Amino acid sequence: MNMFAKQISSSDLNQIKAALPAKIMNGRLSELLERIPYISESVKSVKYLEGEHATLIDIDTQDLAERDKINVDLDELIDALLVSKISAQKKLKVHARPNGQSQATYPDNSAAYYDGNDVRLMEAIDRLLLEVAVRHGAHVRDYASIYTADIMERNGYHKNFPQNVYGVTQIPHNYTLIKEIRESQSSTIPANLFQNHGAFLQPCVCYHCYAEIQETVQSEIMFTLKGRCFRHEIQWRLNTFRRNEFTMREIVFMGSQAYVESKRLGIMDEIWDLFCSLGLYGQVVTARDPFFHYDDMKTKGAVQLMADAKYELEFISANGNASSIASFNNCQDTLCEKFEVTNDEKSFLHSGCVAFGIDRWRAALYEQYGPDNRNWPEKLKNA
Ligand SMILES: [Zn+2]
Repeated sequence: MNMFAKQISSSDLNQIKAALPAKIMNGRLSELLERIPYISESVKSVKYLEGEHATLIDIDTQDLAERDKINVDLDELIDALLVSKISAQKKLKVHARPNGQSQATYPDNSAAYYDGNDVRLMEAIDRLLLEVAVRHGAHVRDYASIYTADIMERNGYHKNFPQNVYGVTQIPHNYTLIKEIRESQSSTIPANLFQNHGAFLQPCVCYHCYAEIQETVQSEIMFTLKGRCFRHEIQWRLNTFRRNEFTMREIVFMGSQAYVESKRLGIMDEIWDLFCSLGLYGQVVTARDPFFHYDDMKTKGAVQLMADAKYELEFISANGNASSIASFNNCQDTLCEKFEVTNDEKSFLHSGCVAFGIDRWRAALYEQYGPDNRNWPEKLKNA
């Protein structure tokens, strides 16, 4: 257990305040603040107190055992971060917002539903992204929203990001059971009557493409697809940029190492030009995904490799918040190995994908131009 992160006693039972070791700074500090909400569902907010170099956590439980458990897990998280190496974030491209504007021109208050203007805005931006994909020779696909157990076992997403997934369950087709549920006085179905076959609501869309050509021999191939994605986010962090359910377009490419990297960077340059030509402000940076295995963060080489494997296009809103609206990923040969996609010399293909959060592009464009399409940039209007 960590000897530095001694809890500072807080008279308020609904708060935990912990002094942080001096080495928890910069990248480690932002990782810590990002991860604390996943310690327990009782965590309701996390603050960093700069003057005291401490973290203040609001919890909504009076249960002392639960409180102790949060303290223990917090210590373990800090210990893991202390031995981790987190590379400094690199900026690859920057389009800075001119000074002066500090508020969104069109505040976005709609969270419960999208209206006709929102839908048109999302269709227009998706059309522009689809054009990029098709120009690069992508095959267009539309798949189901559920990943089967087989697809999940191969890609391993649920093991790497268990905090994100939604499982799919169903009632068995069994006459006795169905009759029992229908005739029961209860207004709900007991959870234990559902069966689970290992399927998940898709947290991203690209694995379908690998499944389509699994165990085949290929040279190079590209797909584009769009789908509804589902992620179990921290409830109190939900907003227009962070949703439980959102639409993602991806461009997926498989081939030689050189083909994959040139497609990733080529498409990234085109998307950057599109982003700037739409009058949006932001940057392309190396990514840091939370919840890679702690062991992976211990060697500098692995960290650098991981950072360069994923670039993110961040929209920076008028109030200064950065949100990733696209990512450009090089998966090396890991996914083709899992889905057994090989070339004719029997080596696994390399692969990569470019993923766009359509809802986030909408939120970015809405903030800038609002709902009335007469104010939209020409490119969007024409799309
Ligand atoms: Zn992907």
